[in-house]
Amino acid sequence: MDAKNITMEKIVSLAKTRGFVFPGSDIYGGLANSWDYGPLGVELKNNIKQTWWKMFVQERLDMVGIDAALIMNPKVWEASGHVATFSDPLVECKTCHERYRADQIDLAAPCAKCGNKGTFTEPASFNLMMKTWLGPKEDASAVAYFRPETAQAMFVDFPNVLTSSRKRVPFGMAQIGKAFRNEITPGNFIFRTREFEQMEIEYFVHPSDWEKYFEDWLANMYKFMDRVGIDASRSHNLEVEKDELAHYSKRTVDIEFDYPFGRKELYGLAYRTDFDLTTHAKHSGSNIVYTDPITNEKYVPHVIEPSFGVDRTVLAVLLSAYDEETVASEEGDGDTRVVLRFKKEIAPIKIAILPLSKKEELSNVARPIAEGLAKHWRVDYDETQSIGKRYRRQDEIGTPYCVTVDFDSLEDKAVTIRDRDTMKQERVPIAELEAWFKKQF
Ligand code: ATP
Repeated sequence: MDAKNITMEKIVSLAKTRGFVFPGSDIYGGLANSWDYGPLGVELKNNIKQTWWKMFVQERLDMVGIDAALIMNPKVWEASGHVATFSDPLVECKTCHERYRADQIDLAAPCAKCGNKGTFTEPASFNLMMKTWLGPKEDASAVAYFRPETAQAMFVDFPNVLTSSRKRVPFGMAQIGKAFRNEITPGNFIFRTREFEQMEIEYFVHPSDWEKYFEDWLANMYKFMDRVGIDASRSHNLEVEKDELAHYSKRTVDIEFDYPFGRKELYGLAYRTDFDLTTHAKHSGSNIVYTDPITNEKYVPHVIEPSFGVDRTVLAVLLSAYDEETVASEEGDGDTRVVLRFKKEIAPIKIAILPLSKKEELSNVARPIAEGLAKHWRVDYDETQSIGKRYRRQDEIGTPYCVTVDFDSLEDKAVTIRDRDTMKQERVPIAELEAWFKKQF
């Protein structure tokens, strides 16, 4: 289907009704821009994170992972520049008090909320760090921050990782975890929230090699997008202009995606030079220098940073997978069906077991099949409603295969496997089911 016809309303509504993503704190009227991942959302998100970890950590000999504390010594954020500069320009409409990011609106235009013109306050710098206090005293000495990115822990842990893992440059560190930013204008569903999850890599290289590894990582990011099923034709590189680069970066490419609300950032790739390691060495007083074991050259490694948002990945995957088609088969000829065409590796449910009726003689056969397959793959078991409706539900949640157990199964000891994309059916002996699915996944 034409991507232009996929609206956010369709995605948000399907996400809620099928249990991918719900409004957070819903029974209390929600909490603006907070979202909870439901039973299918958590599976999808976990599959995305596992694919990333497998591809960038487990399948490579030059990568290691960490899982650092979310709240770090506040000195980290002073050194990194976050306390001083991690801010957005905030303006407020003097009439209705709506707040905007000054860099995202035309200050000469009327306020989008109340329509009054020329009423904005002067832009003020608003720090996005979420503050808290450690311990019982709420004073300045106890101030700490929820990390606004996972990256800094990988620089701070660099000496410990280097010594314990005995890795040699070029090598990289990876981390997946939550990050917090007090965004002025959160919105667009899970695109911009104040609590989100990141998957980040810091790849340490010799200073003279950075260009080669920058290109390598850009290609790797696209390989990952392909593996999780993000539509390449809706993804674009944006070379960030020199005067818009962050203070730590010499080159940044944003990978943007065509969301229904416009072309916006999905991921970022930055060449951070030796800025972070040098800064942390200076502020902490630690000696962070790498010695090449062969040449004995001493230097501070430079860093290439591919940065991925988990939630934006979920959104781009949902938008890429969403399809509506007119059925041209005996399975409801002429009807429209909604299908999430997830890649098999990330589909939340891999196989649905659907006994044709609730009769005990069928569940006696179907349940053990479900329990056996569930040892290998995430399985759904559904025995209510007509089989047509159950197929449609599985299509809508992107389940690649449905297994129907019918009354013939009692005689021929076989079941019908239906393919989500082709809707073709195949009769397979129960005894061969596991081997059949092993070939598919
Ligand atoms: P933006 O320009 O959209 O605010 P950014 O350039 O500040 O993003 P980075 O600091 O590069 O973002 O963060 C790395 C990645 O983390 C982003 O590419 C995005 O996928 C994700 N991300 C950043 N901020 C948010 C947020 N508020 N909500 C959800 N994901 C986010």
